[in-house]
Amino acid sequence: MACIFCEIAAGRAPSYKIYEDADSFAFLDINPAAPGHTLVVPKSHAAMIFDIDELSLRRLTSAVKHVADRIRKVMGADVSVLQNNGRLAGQGVDHVHFHVIPQKMPHVVRLGHMGPRAPDEDLKAMTEQLKF
Ligand code: AMP
Ligand code: ZN
Repeated sequence: MACIFCEIAAGRAPSYKIYEDADSFAFLDINPAAPGHTLVVPKSHAAMIFDIDELSLRRLTSAVKHVADRIRKVMGADVSVLQNNGRLAGQGVDHVHFHVIPQKMPHVVRLGHMGPRAPDEDLKAMTEQLKF
């Protein structure tokens, strides 16, 4: 089956488009976490952040900034930016996308909670594992 975000970016499926440039496309999420919740996608298909080349990702994040700026200016909202990769991360559509979510009373969305302060030995062990 064709990728729905490819279909939207190509204009073959409907969307509530708010922004477009040569490489990126932004449209309203049809299940908004808050009014104005927008998705920003590359026009070229890549499933996850692991699959997109760095230049395309830079162009995409420029578009994310334009959209965030616009939402803040028009709505007077704070803004959360979120991007999921893989099912456990909550990714439902396998085409890279950034969620740009206005945060404005009364529609304030809590996206995640930090855990308790970790022991320094755990943080040190994780640093050894991850650093590169
Ligand atoms: P994620 O769970 O991070 O993959 O986010 C996918 C998002 O795409 C969800 O918030 C859906 O509501 C949204 N979505 C799915 N299909 C469409 C569509 N046709 N138009 C707009 N948003 C969509
Ligand atoms: Zn796609």
